[in-house]
Amino acid sequence: MSTIASELNLILLGPPGAGKGTQADRLREDFPLAYIATGDMLREARAQGTDLGAQAQEHMDRGDLVPDEVVIGIALERLSADDARDGFLLDGFPRTVPQADALSEEMANLGRRITAVLLVDVPDEEIVRRISGRRVSKAGRTYHVEYDPPKHPGRCDVDGTPLEQREDDKPEVVLARLKKYHQATSPLIDYYEKQGLLRHFDGSLPPVEVHDKIRATLATLRLEDEL
Ligand code: ADP
Ligand code: AMP
Repeated sequence: MSTIASELNLILLGPPGAGKGTQADRLREDFPLAYIATGDMLREARAQGTDLGAQAQEHMDRGDLVPDEVVIGIALERLSADDARDGFLLDGFPRTVPQADALSEEMANLGRRITAVLLVDVPDEEIVRRISGRRVSKAGRTYHVEYDPPKHPGRCDVDGTPLEQREDDKPEVVLARLKKYHQATSPLIDYYEKQGLLRHFDGSLPPVEVHDKIRATLATLRLEDEL
């Protein structure tokens, strides 16, 4: 089985607060991709009071990563769901080399391949500003009080539900998350660069410009795939 030309299997990589979720919201309007955000899945599990949620809680609140075996299990299970068969957008997974290895193995087993890894990069000093102004809807849509405000303050543009601030968006937790990113996740830049999959985007540009550049890259990749 080979990857069909139109299948887009994408990974969004970058530090917390770089704008991965923001770009994911926009890309999902362009392409019918299954959106797989492990952070959203873990928050949902916590909200529902499941065992998984309880296991994840202390790690998340400290700004630590949830153990690989837990996250790999939920991410790969979600990847094998029907709606992910024709393409997916991974956001926040993989975050460690063992997670990336597990994903590669699963893709090989399924006879599929990653189309591209979209690195959205932003300098550390901008991250805290971004995260402190972040507001999210219950469904996970992302806004910023200053940079990307909703049309009606405090309400989601899409479903009108109240916007909230995430628990782990407090400044002291943000610094721990950033440190973890540099230690455990940034080696994936090299990992995917070596595989020729990495595409770099300057996340300090306005959201619409980052989106335009990603779309242009994806258009080129799809053309290359059809040749
Ligand atoms: P991530 O998913 O990478 O953690 P988010 O997409 O949640 O990051 O973005 C973090 C915050 O920064 C949000 O409040 C979002 O509205 C804002 N943001 C995202 N992209 C940009 C951008 N290009 N310029 C300015 N602010 C942005
Ligand atoms: P996010 O919504 O992607 O910022 O993730 C929020 C938190 O969930 C992270 O700080 C981690 O504690 C946890 N998490 C999400 N995805 C992963 C992952 N792939 N590996 C380990 N922990 C994760």
